[in-house]
Amino acid sequence: MRALVLKNKNKLSIEERKLAALSGFDVLIKVEVACVCGSDFRLFNQEKIRDIVLGHEFSGTVLRSGKDVKEKLIGKRVTVFPMFSCLDCESCKSGRHRDCDNKISLGWDRDGAFANEVVVDSRFVIELPDDISFEEGALVEHLSCGYRVAQEILNTGVAKNSPIAIFGDGPIGLSNILFLKQLDFNNISVVGRYDSRLKLACEFGASLVTKDIQTIRNSEVLLVSAPNGSDLLELISRNPIHYIVPQTRIKEAEVLNEILRRNIKMGRGFAYFKDDFYRVINFLQGNKELSKKMLSREMTIYEFANEVNFSSLKKPEYKIFLRPNKNYANGLELHRS
Ligand SMILES: [Zn+2]
Ligand SMILES: [Zn+2]
Repeated sequence: MRALVLKNKNKLSIEERKLAALSGFDVLIKVEVACVCGSDFRLFNQEKIRDIVLGHEFSGTVLRSGKDVKEKLIGKRVTVFPMFSCLDCESCKSGRHRDCDNKISLGWDRDGAFANEVVVDSRFVIELPDDISFEEGALVEHLSCGYRVAQEILNTGVAKNSPIAIFGDGPIGLSNILFLKQLDFNNISVVGRYDSRLKLACEFGASLVTKDIQTIRNSEVLLVSAPNGSDLLELISRNPIHYIVPQTRIKEAEVLNEILRRNIKMGRGFAYFKDDFYRVINFLQGNKELSKKMLSREMTIYEFANEVNFSSLKKPEYKIFLRPNKNYANGLELHRS
């Protein structure tokens, strides 16, 4: 298979790799569309050499299946729930798959979808209905983060008119708005950095969008999807926040101390459920115009590797999508340093 491999810090290369053998429950999927996630960008910058194929947001067509796969999946259009829990431990057996200590993340612990083919555990494959395109299928994973967080806020008993602030205007921050609105939360502010994304935030139903944290004054609930120490600390200090849901790791000691000092309740912003993917697919079926707004740039894996290696990749409006099976025969040349 041909794969985009993370070799070491900020260095991606295209390699021919031998496909992993299909074990019992595995299926081989031809990747049609793969989306780039903020977490992929964070991995590019890690010092540790990983030699791994990234990519966990994707859609494709099943080509082959292992001997223990019962469902007829060959030829099916699918996306994949990319956290493969063991299905065997106490957490898994009681339905709390996201608490499984043995789970394996696609594009992190094992080779992911920035390749023309990927091997996954069939038990985490999700079939796409006929009216959901491959592009929409590749958006399901990141939207499920927003879906799960909105459910978390609902289940915590937050009032529908309670002022909610979203810190971060990336795809996760913006997907929160869609699903909070779906649940009738109606007082949503977004702090971001990019005009194009803040415009989308308005379209998605935010009541206030701003680049200036000083304008956020009465928020009671805070969703954190962008890393930023001093700004975040100021935002928390200025607002009567009693509930925070981190969707990215909050590392700064000052921020964590402030959260502790004020006894602010912390929600769970990581890790969705497999069922969330089906809910999001339903949502996309009713919102057919969304994918056009979200997919802001199409690239081949060669172009992507090239731009990352030369640090010339511009911040996209929303999602970059890759087509690892696009025909590269004519004229695309990867610069080599
Ligand atoms: Zn992701
Ligand atoms: Zn388990």
